[in-house]
Amino acid sequence: MKPIYVTQPYLPPLEEFIPYLEKIWENKILTNGGPFHQQLEQALCDYLGVKHVALFSNGTLALITALQALRVTGEVITTPYSFVATSHALHWHGNKPVFVDVESNTLNIDPAKIEAAITPQTTAIMPVHCYGNPCDTAAIQKIADNYNLRVIYDAAHAFGVQDAGGSVLRHGDLSILSFHATKVFNTFEGGAIICPDAKTKQRIDHLKNFGFVDEVTVVAPGINAKMSEINAAFGLLQLKHMPHVMQRRAEIDALYREKLQHVKGIHCLPQAGQTVANHSYFPVLVQPDYPLPRDAIYKKLKDHAIHARRYFYPLISDFPMYRGLPTAARANLHVAANASEQVLCLPIYPALTPDDQQRVIEIVLGA
Ligand SMILES: *Cc1c(COP(=O)(O)O)cnc(C)c1O
Repeated sequence: MKPIYVTQPYLPPLEEFIPYLEKIWENKILTNGGPFHQQLEQALCDYLGVKHVALFSNGTLALITALQALRVTGEVITTPYSFVATSHALHWHGNKPVFVDVESNTLNIDPAKIEAAITPQTTAIMPVHCYGNPCDTAAIQKIADNYNLRVIYDAAHAFGVQDAGGSVLRHGDLSILSFHATKVFNTFEGGAIICPDAKTKQRIDHLKNFGFVDEVTVVAPGINAKMSEINAAFGLLQLKHMPHVMQRRAEIDALYREKLQHVKGIHCLPQAGQTVANHSYFPVLVQPDYPLPRDAIYKKLKDHAIHARRYFYPLISDFPMYRGLPTAARANLHVAANASEQVLCLPIYPALTPDDQQRVIEIVLGA
């Protein structure tokens, strides 16, 4: 049986990539902000509707560099319901993650619970637009303004997502994207920081290149997080195919919602707060009135070569390096813990055929 994975990277026809490679071979610029790097930054500004984009070699280094750029110290309020890199970035930058529970409708950090977690050591909030559903950005900003906190959005899932005011990436002090192979838009590996102004982008550009400002001047202990020309070239090509990618994702999302809407015990997570969605994931909650527990339907799918994933299980706060933190206690995080035990992300990617999707739906229906 042909395996079906939760996602599969979109690869444009190989022959379309050859001219980009020829260009690299011709001009022999492989990295350090070459022509494809510059072109992709501009193309992403246009596509996303943002002012400044700084490309990175991956999303995790973009998160760490964002913390360094804003000189974030001490404690950072964040969500346990995310990919582990969100907290790992805080750890690498010497910050202490402080976990706050999520809202049940979006599974994003619950703004109503943030204030109680603020201490004199708190300097920033790092929320996640989980599955590409926007956070309550207005409520988060209000708290940040009241307490003079920075806001860095882990927007790794939110490529192309818009709310009523435009790109969700405009919110907070900085937003971070990931272009990993598993994401909606990929450059094999890659990432970006969305910056509000040219000065911030310039500082970030220095930080991702060891802190070099010119040949002889180093202004900060920066890191090497530059995107190479080959990745940037692939991004430019991938961007041309985004209308098709987004359309297929929207169709798959709509079909799941239609076929699963009356299945007892299967709750499709609502899309709330976006005017343009990216359908980056298709999470369902397997509730107690479903005939099988979540792990049993997960296993049954697997037995039929369908590799759904339990994003996000376990919670970040349950991993050994974080579970000793006072805010990692279950009692503090029961909405997140409950979602983590019920969630299942179903396959969604442009090359998923209607027949493939039907196979997935039939197993969920027939349990
Ligand atoms: C993928 C992801 C990251 C990490 O991005 P990389 O490019 O793989 O380093 C960070 N946060 C979230 C929420 C992610 O899904």
